[in-house]
Amino acid sequence: MTDSRPRHAPIQFSVNDDCLEIGGLPLTRLAQRAGKTPFYAYDRQRLTDRVAFLRQHLPAEIHLHYAMKANPMPAVVQHMARLVDGLDVASAGEMKVALDTPMPPGEISFAGPGKSDSELSCAIAAGIVLNMESEQEMERIAILGEYLGVRPKVAVRVNPDFELKSSSMKMGGGPKQFGVDAERVPAMLARLGRLALDFEGFHIFSGSQNLRVAALQEAHEKTFQLGIALAKHAPAPVRMLNIGGGFGTPYFPGDEALDLAAVGENLRRLIPGVRQALPEARIVIELGRYLVAEAGIYVCRVLERKESRGQIFLITDGGLHHHLAASGNFGQVIRKNYPVMVGNRVQGTDREVVSVVGPLCTPLDLLADRMEMSRAEAGDLIVVFQSGAYGLTASPTAFLSHPPPMEMLV
Ligand SMILES: *Cc1c(COP(=O)(O)O)cnc(C)c1O
Repeated sequence: MTDSRPRHAPIQFSVNDDCLEIGGLPLTRLAQRAGKTPFYAYDRQRLTDRVAFLRQHLPAEIHLHYAMKANPMPAVVQHMARLVDGLDVASAGEMKVALDTPMPPGEISFAGPGKSDSELSCAIAAGIVLNMESEQEMERIAILGEYLGVRPKVAVRVNPDFELKSSSMKMGGGPKQFGVDAERVPAMLARLGRLALDFEGFHIFSGSQNLRVAALQEAHEKTFQLGIALAKHAPAPVRMLNIGGGFGTPYFPGDEALDLAAVGENLRRLIPGVRQALPEARIVIELGRYLVAEAGIYVCRVLERKESRGQIFLITDGGLHHHLAASGNFGQVIRKNYPVMVGNRVQGTDREVVSVVGPLCTPLDLLADRMEMSRAEAGDLIVVFQSGAYGLTASPTAFLSHPPPMEMLV
C-alpha cells in the first residue's frame, strides 16, 4: 500500500553525518557561531542561485525587482541589490536600507497606501519612483515636488479589473485599498499631464503566493492588455510596466514548486506584442518570497520533551513571536505545517510523531502539529524551512517580551 498523504516538496539542503549544513557549515557549528538560539540563517549562495534560475527561465528583457518587505535584513538587501535590477520598498525604513545599496535610485520604487508627506518628500528628493496609490496622493506628490524644487518620478498603481486566480492573497480586482481602479486611470492620467510630474508608467500587481502556472499566465496576458490600453491615455510614453509578481513558494504538504519554465515561455510569447505597443517600456517583475523564502531557515532549541495524554510535545525557545507564518497565524485559513525537522538528527535512530511548540502562553504557539521526525532530546536543534521570507519582520516580536532572534547571512 502506498502512503497517499500529501507530502512537503523536497528540501534541497545538504546533510553530512546526519546533520544539516547551511552555507557549508554544520548546523551545530552555526548555532555555536550564533552564540544563542533562536536564530534565522539565510544562505547567500542560494539567493544567488535563485536569481540565476530566474534569469535562465525568464525572457532576457524582464527586469527583476526584489520586493524588500519579504526580507528587509540589510545584509540580505545588500546582497540582492547586486543581483537584481531594482528594489521595491514600502516604507521610509525600507527606503533607507535600499538607498544604502549600490542600486541607482531610479531603479527603486516605493508602493503602498498611506505614504506620509515625510516619506514622499524623502523619496522625491532621492529620485525614487513613486507608485501612486490614489489621485489624492498624486496631488500631494505634485505639491511636495514643487516645494522641494524636484520633479517627482511617478507611476500609477492600477487596481486591475481582474483578479489573480487561486492566489492566496489577492491584491487587485474588486474594491481594494491598493492602487487606482482601472476605469478611473484615464482621468487621472489627463490630470497627471498638467502637473509637474515625470510619468514613468504603470504598476499592476494582482496577487501573491501563486503556485499555479495557468493563473499566472492568464494574469500576465491580462496585465499586458491593460497596460497597453491605459498607455493610450498616458501623457508620455510608458517607460516602465511593472506587471507584479506573485510567484509562490511551496510551504505546505501537497504544494508543488512553480513551473517557472512554463511561466517564462508564456512571457516570451507575449513580449513581442508589448514591445510593439510600448517600445520604450522596461518590463518589470517584482518578487519577494520567491527570491528569498527557500534560502532561509529558522532554528530553535528543544528545552524539554513533554508527554501529555499520549502526545509528545517538544517545547522550544522559539515560537510564533519570531515566526508567525510557521505557526499558521499569518493569513492561513486552515493551519498546515511548514517543513520542520530536527536539524542535528536528520534521519535519527528512532522516528516519532511530535508537536513542536514555543514558550508563549497560547495554544496558537505551534511550529509543528503532530509531524513525524527523528526522536529529539533537550538541546537538539529544530529547523523550520522556507523561512527566508515574512519571518522575523512579519512576527509580533514584542508579544510576551522574549528577546528577538538574531539573523545571519551565511
Ligand atoms: C508584498 C508585495 C510584493 C511581494 O510579494 P511576494 O508574494 O513576497 O512575492 C510585490 N509587490 C507588491 C506591490 C507587494 O506589496
